[in-house]
Amino acid sequence: MPFRNPESRIKVGVSSCLLGEKVRWDGNHKRNRTVKNQLGRIFEWVPTCPEVEICMGVPRQAVRLMGNLKSPRLVATASATDWTARMTRYARKRSRELAKRGVCGYIFKARSPSCGVVRIPVTAQNGKTTAQGRGLFADAFMRRHSMVPVEDEDRLQDARVRENFITRVFAYHRLSQLFNGRMSRKTLAQFHQAHKCLLMAHSRKHEAALAKLIERAHRGSPAQWKTRYAEPFMQALTFKTTVKKNAAVLNYMLGVLKKSLSEAETQNVIQAIESYRNGSVSFIKPVTRIKRHVRKHKVDYLANQAYLNCSAQGQFR
Ligand code: SF4
Repeated sequence: MPFRNPESRIKVGVSSCLLGEKVRWDGNHKRNRTVKNQLGRIFEWVPTCPEVEICMGVPRQAVRLMGNLKSPRLVATASATDWTARMTRYARKRSRELAKRGVCGYIFKARSPSCGVVRIPVTAQNGKTTAQGRGLFADAFMRRHSMVPVEDEDRLQDARVRENFITRVFAYHRLSQLFNGRMSRKTLAQFHQAHKCLLMAHSRKHEAALAKLIERAHRGSPAQWKTRYAEPFMQALTFKTTVKKNAAVLNYMLGVLKKSLSEAETQNVIQAIESYRNGSVSFIKPVTRIKRHVRKHKVDYLANQAYLNCSAQGQFR
């Protein structure tokens, strides 16, 4: 079961204003170059402006979150028009549609009372404002799709966050393909085996726990394996990779390859891993050498590793 990059681009939801659409309350956009130009080369966008979709118009009155933190209301600042019911209904409907369209990630506009993911101000009745809320649309989407990778445009300015997001979106896409196909204990075990190195690079603890789960998979039904496996799998990938973790995985791969390599070839890979570990070369160098040997010696176990085949690997390291 080879895990390669998909033929067509993976669909990712995005706040429309980040792509340059003039849908903001003031008739403007918030084009984000990192999102539109850099990530736009990798993903196919599925844009949504929830405020336009519920007919708030452009331009429109600005809105804010009011009431209690757990269930705030979306209220127009000047007229006090309450948009909560319409936004909640629309958010549920759109979240279902996005799942049907196969969206495997979402990039939200930061600091928006509709789209913001974190630290959105909520003003209580006594006038006190707490910046711990979440936009109503983003909240509905994230509750319905708790495993779908989500980020906001601010966090994505950090290259490591960006790389991690891309990795998780690709992984979620592969997981969805597995679950949408004819899943059996065998295909789940193959999936896990192909993701062993990727999981090790993020969290060895999760990799070991998931491997145990696969061993015990004969006890449950496919539906049970699905829920037990998917959540910790996606959670594992939220742990950041480090140079130390990557070097350990590269050494593990070298261990698998070793019996096929000559002494000179082995030393050549060791040297590349060490140079990566001490920061004198990028991640691409040892990976390219390992990939070359994997192809040359036809080592299927490594050739199928998502770690070597995921487009995010090495883009920013
Ligand atoms: S933040 Fe969300 S609601 Fe506001 S303009 Fe952008 S897409 Fe529309």
